[in-house]
Amino acid sequence: MVLVLLCACATVTYLRDFRGIGIHVAASLGHSDLGIPRQARNDEIEQYIAQPSPFAAYSFFIPSNAKYYEYFYSNRPYLAAETIVWKVNAHLHRAFYTNIQVNTDTNPLLVNPFYRLPPGFTPYPLVPVNSDTCNLLATPATVAAFYALRESARENGMYLYVVSAFRTAEHQARLFAAHTSPDGVVARPYHSEHQTGRALDLGGAGGLLDRFSPSATGIWVGQNAHLYGFIVRYGADITHITGFIHEPWHITYVGVPIATYMYENGIVSLEEFVGRYPNL
Ligand SMILES: [Zn+2]
Repeated sequence: MVLVLLCACATVTYLRDFRGIGIHVAASLGHSDLGIPRQARNDEIEQYIAQPSPFAAYSFFIPSNAKYYEYFYSNRPYLAAETIVWKVNAHLHRAFYTNIQVNTDTNPLLVNPFYRLPPGFTPYPLVPVNSDTCNLLATPATVAAFYALRESARENGMYLYVVSAFRTAEHQARLFAAHTSPDGVVARPYHSEHQTGRALDLGGAGGLLDRFSPSATGIWVGQNAHLYGFIVRYGADITHITGFIHEPWHITYVGVPIATYMYENGIVSLEEFVGRYPNL
């Protein structure tokens, strides 16, 4: 009788140990608690171990996001695993303006519906942008890059100027409050790239660069801004990613290496870049 009891205890201990170790091994292969149900049998756990998570195949896989990849995929089964991973890394499995996190002075500085600037944030230093409009400020790197972009435009027979640059949170709050339906059109204070001092709204001979009747200048900016470290931040067809309408006039300084890499690799949103390079 004692022997039977001992055997039973040993079996239970073995099964419990296998379960713990099995789940641990499965997790190391990219599976999450969500993906391995609580009631999973040992043979099912073995299946998980035999088949690593498809999301773990990507260098930008973040283990702590494993359950969100699985959750997002269950809602978007038509998306490729690669897309699922960068989108979740950029929080795009959530609704805009939920689970908001604070971003600090990083490069690239991601500011969007999921990332806001810290309270009282003002970039330092800010320098004047010598343009046709007065009282405009931006970071020194942004201004220098704009001058180079403007000079290149001039050499190509085009006229370029800055319509809007740095804005304080108070200024942004006034713009936001003045709009009847601002989300998607006017950023909330602390969620505006203009508060970073790295964003510029551009005008050409016909005024603000237009999305409805693109001017030659607007098209040229879209094709050449990266050479000077800018990205056209709110491109066409990515409203569901950026949270903003197509704005061909709004460019953001991220530096030549990132801007050129994005352009040459067809990465059209800063969200995708950050989702693919979360440790940059
Ligand atoms: Zn803008």
